[in-house]
Amino acid sequence: MSTEPVPFTSDDYAARMRRSADAARAAGLDGLLVTPGPELVWLTGYRPTAITERLTVLVLTPDSEPTLVVPALERSDAESAAGAPTVRMVDWLDGDDPFARTGTLVAPDATMGISDSAWAMHLLGLQDALPGTSYRSLTQSLPMLRAVKDPAELARLDAAAQAADATYEQILHVPFAGRRETDVAADLARLLREHGHEQVDFTVVGSGPNGANPHHEAGDRVIEVGDAVVLDFGGLRHGYGSDTSRTVSVGEPSARLREVHEVVRLAQHAGVEAARVGAACQDVDRAARRLIADAGYGDRFIHRTGHGIGTTTHEPPYMIEGEEQPLEPGMCFSVEPGVYLPGELGVRIEDIVTVDASGPRRLNTTDRSLRVVE
Ligand code: ZN
Ligand code: ZN
Repeated sequence: MSTEPVPFTSDDYAARMRRSADAARAAGLDGLLVTPGPELVWLTGYRPTAITERLTVLVLTPDSEPTLVVPALERSDAESAAGAPTVRMVDWLDGDDPFARTGTLVAPDATMGISDSAWAMHLLGLQDALPGTSYRSLTQSLPMLRAVKDPAELARLDAAAQAADATYEQILHVPFAGRRETDVAADLARLLREHGHEQVDFTVVGSGPNGANPHHEAGDRVIEVGDAVVLDFGGLRHGYGSDTSRTVSVGEPSARLREVHEVVRLAQHAGVEAARVGAACQDVDRAARRLIADAGYGDRFIHRTGHGIGTTTHEPPYMIEGEEQPLEPGMCFSVEPGVYLPGELGVRIEDIVTVDASGPRRLNTTDRSLRVVE
């Protein structure tokens, strides 16, 4: 699992920056202000080692070359990013006014999209320096900017999914009964790293009644024979995300667990089968939800069916009622219905799925039947 992906080239990054500037114009924006975070990594390959109060911002407009305003002490790091060759660097020293400097790159009455994760102090600084400029959320203005993955991105997502699958195969053989959830969570994190993840984002181990809380991560509860255990884990490998869930039974499952697990398994299958080019995102949610509702658990499926994945583990498109965005070839997202019975148990099954003209393809391919662990 140690094969290195083919690196993205400065041409790849230049094409993304051009496409983004064009998409901004099509969305009625005069440009984009991109601060450190997933968009900056995707656009330039630049991931500052520390995100600080010093302003770093990529200014993208349709008619001028991409420009990174960067603290002078971080300039050499920024210049070593793979996308740097086609980016003009404008550095600033402590004591300079980086907002005024950024202002010279933006038209006086421009409407700019700005990264959702930009610090408030940076947006406030820009507002002071550029009183005529207005700002929009980048994600709300261009929700599908990063949603269609190119083949090199899909190769990374495949590799991340395979690493998560290898982690699941191995976790089936560790002891569960008598250990704390946090012990199994530590095993998951260790295995993800052994399989090449540089970052672990979450290791959910929801045993027994804790499984009924979809946001439960892992706690001190000691896992018992007879528990259902929701496992949901993922992170980043070579900069791209993994995210998969399976629910296992500690010892022989109860009739109730068998029944609920089968409902969720069929719902997950229906959701994946509904993921076709041209179908709306909400169709995936509806297909999965219908089976759960028909089985009488409609009010116990308390979250959307899925989310996109790429340089982050949660991003558009969202598989949710009301999202009419059509699926396009190369989109990549989770299908993860669940049923949650308070005080009793939870079941969730999740695969990452991509679509092309031939239909849906699961990136996670481990056994989805109810596996028994010890
Ligand atoms: Zn998950
Ligand atoms: Zn997920």
